[in-house]
Amino acid sequence: MSQKVRVRFAPSPTGPLHIGGVRTALYNYLFAKKHGGEFILRIEDTDQKRYVDGAEDYIVNALNWCGIPFDEGPGKDGGHGPYRQSERKHLYKQYADKLISNGNAYYAFDTAENLDFHRKDHEARGKTFIYNWHNRLKLSNSLSLTKEEVQTKLDAGEDYVIRFKSPQDEKVILQDIIRGEIHIDSNVLDDKVLFKSDGMPTYHLANIVDDHLMKISHVIRGEEWLPSLALHHLLYDAFGWTAPQFAHLPLIMKPVGKGKLSKRDGEKLGFPVFPMSWQESKGYREEGYFSDAVVNFLALLGWNPGTEQELFSLSELVETFSLERVNKSGARFDPDKTKWYNQQYLQSRSNAELAESYAEILDEKLSSEQKSLDCARPGTLTKIVSLIKERAVFVSDFWQLSNYFFVAPSSYNEKASRKQWKEDSADIMSQLASVLEAIDDFSSENIETIVKAWITEKELSFGKVMPPLRLVVVGEMKGPHIFDILEMIGKEESIERIHKAHGILG
Ligand code: GLU
Repeated sequence: MSQKVRVRFAPSPTGPLHIGGVRTALYNYLFAKKHGGEFILRIEDTDQKRYVDGAEDYIVNALNWCGIPFDEGPGKDGGHGPYRQSERKHLYKQYADKLISNGNAYYAFDTAENLDFHRKDHEARGKTFIYNWHNRLKLSNSLSLTKEEVQTKLDAGEDYVIRFKSPQDEKVILQDIIRGEIHIDSNVLDDKVLFKSDGMPTYHLANIVDDHLMKISHVIRGEEWLPSLALHHLLYDAFGWTAPQFAHLPLIMKPVGKGKLSKRDGEKLGFPVFPMSWQESKGYREEGYFSDAVVNFLALLGWNPGTEQELFSLSELVETFSLERVNKSGARFDPDKTKWYNQQYLQSRSNAELAESYAEILDEKLSSEQKSLDCARPGTLTKIVSLIKERAVFVSDFWQLSNYFFVAPSSYNEKASRKQWKEDSADIMSQLASVLEAIDDFSSENIETIVKAWITEKELSFGKVMPPLRLVVVGEMKGPHIFDILEMIGKEESIERIHKAHGILG
């Protein structure tokens, strides 16, 4: 690539970033890093009515949480700032004027009522009103009015907009890296508003001017912007600027049925659609997802590496990513797959790191007395994590999978008790308690050797000892190797649990 790669993610701060937006940012980031280029964040806040407090901070924090920070953007000037369009307000008018003077744009004075009248009138006749070549000469604008009339209106301070004069009878040929060549008949385009008399540009003008001034080489954005591509292409031509290359990403589709993924789908099916929590909506971060798992599944949502590989670190993604391998058709969102990813990432995390996160959960769950148990010490906690993590998707699952290490069962699974707690169980367990009492080296291996020897010596069957033992220690028939559990909870606690069960189970 001869031109320096500069891409931008250009969200409007109208709310939190949806995961679709995060994916757009991610693809921009991957493309930039792959080509040694720059990833820019531009805040498109020209529509002050839709501005939402806190949205910009949310966007920045979400990118940082995902580990895909921008190189240039608000607070990180790279010589092309400011990066908020509201701070660039003064720049746009001259460009609108330029288009007026070179005949590619015009003033329009039509009132809202008048336009509404035309819209309704067309509707009544089963037609759609489009402000363009076929009727612009019948409307109130600088193409239909005389120079003097226009000047009088401007001097009188009448409200106006500046519209793009879209060409008539032209075949517009567009190139998209993902979709290939697209042909558009210019006659279907409307004369979009570029500038309003309140001094603010519309999205289209500000977007093109900024992409040009910021030297953007590739525009990578969602498919919903594809209908604007023809206008953008014509705007570049009208300014005499070289257009960047475009790539429109496929939509992220609902898990079931038709249409694009929405916040409602998440609420209905119980999965997050935001990277981090926003008001009452939970985010991936708060639901316990690892950010690298989120990045990994988002990368594969619309892009395919051309191999069976599913797990990619960020640097592997940078290495492998290409826009050519982004799919044209929508990518179906699969909430189960997101969990699978998290599970994979959890398994590959070190036990010590997971234990650290688990300690934070335990801090809330355990009383100070329980916190002083051997099990709650960092080393032991790491071991516990190693025993149970296989079955976990999130660190928050650890508690469910290991609470019996810290808290003695207060009830026993009914079905298991019926099946495993026989008439002689209480007696056998008391005998076992004495055996345990006499063990000095209370390590899993040693307990196992001694208990097994005792079983053989007493001519007891394993079935009479092991299941009731698990029941009294764990409360149900789950968990890792029972002697590992005994070692971890310690001699005293093991014996206490046997006595406690005796009292409850009889
Ligand atoms: N501000 C637009 C948005 O909110 C940006 C579209 C583009 O990337 O051109 O998505």
